[in-house]
Amino acid sequence: MNERHYNFSAGPANLPLSVLERAQRELLCLPGAGASVMEISHRGGPFRAILDEAEANYRRLLAIPDNYRVLFLQGGGRLQFAMVPMNLLQGTGKSADYILTGTWGNKAIEEARNVGDVRVAWDGRETAYDRLPEAGELNLDAEAAYAHFASNETIQGVQFFDEPAVGEVPLVCDASSDLLCRPLNIEKYGLIYASAQKNCGPAGVAVVIIRDDLIERSDKKLPGYLSYANHAAEGSLYNTAPTFAIYIVNLVAKWLLDEIGGLAAMETQNRRKAKMLYDVLDESDGFYKGHAREQDRSLMNVTFRLPDEESNKRFLAEAESQGLDALKGHRSVGGIRASIYNAMPVEGVEKLAEFMKEFQRTGSAQK
Ligand SMILES: *Cc1c(COP(=O)(O)O)cnc(C)c1O
Repeated sequence: MNERHYNFSAGPANLPLSVLERAQRELLCLPGAGASVMEISHRGGPFRAILDEAEANYRRLLAIPDNYRVLFLQGGGRLQFAMVPMNLLQGTGKSADYILTGTWGNKAIEEARNVGDVRVAWDGRETAYDRLPEAGELNLDAEAAYAHFASNETIQGVQFFDEPAVGEVPLVCDASSDLLCRPLNIEKYGLIYASAQKNCGPAGVAVVIIRDDLIERSDKKLPGYLSYANHAAEGSLYNTAPTFAIYIVNLVAKWLLDEIGGLAAMETQNRRKAKMLYDVLDESDGFYKGHAREQDRSLMNVTFRLPDEESNKRFLAEAESQGLDALKGHRSVGGIRASIYNAMPVEGVEKLAEFMKEFQRTGSAQK
């Protein structure tokens, strides 16, 4: 039982095998450093080289303009829920707009409300967050401190393919579960954040891409770690950085550049993978019912349910017996969730699609 399974976990999720193999080779001794990456100073040459390379690779992958900073911070997505309003809302005398399309957006709002005034510019609750807003449905404040949205709601499986239009208001995005799944036009954003453990690397680090003018908003009296200005001034070395996590984040970025061929190629592959599963849903005569509205379906988290709870349970048990792991939907949505981030191999998705067809055909895919 030491074989690697296909892991459909929503996070922490798959890492590319070649990244794990390289980390394994370098675990005892990072070339040139005389020790592992976990045992060297975060301010010394070898780690600085990794940090610089990680930033450079992100800049290349996402074509990040010079007037944006790339920060690697601890505390995951959750800390960003608080840091965003603390730095960008507090003291402005304004309110912040939140476009609410699922569970994570709700949690972001809870944190922001502890800091200042929040306006909900749209709320998809009525239809259990199964769709995104149409352009005309947003109730936006042209004077807002910023407008926040989650590009991919990991639990419901809905994903924006075009950024919501918010005029001159800085757009802030929680991209925790889809950053690096496709190219982005960074200039549309004021700030993008993502915890790494879905698409970018291991748990323990979050990537924050922030426009220069927003860094200047940080209140000088914030606790030191919570200020973007401090992290930007110190180049992500305000305190001891999560060195191992950043090392893996860099290897994943290199994998995207060198093995996948960049984010456009990654998007093509992600679309192919998602289509395989959505085709099974659409051709199942209602046996598999997708949660998300068709045009809002996520490329990263495919959510659906079976006709009854009994079939659902059997599906999960039989999938697992075939090495298809962690397909259980989030308790708030139920059913099945197949998370197919960048590092999920095409073969894993093929195997799941075959399993699903067989399960429907026989009521049991067990041979
Ligand atoms: C996982 C996730 C988070 C939370 O990230 P943590 O690192 O656990 O704090 C936030 N937003 C989205 C969209 C997520 O998928």
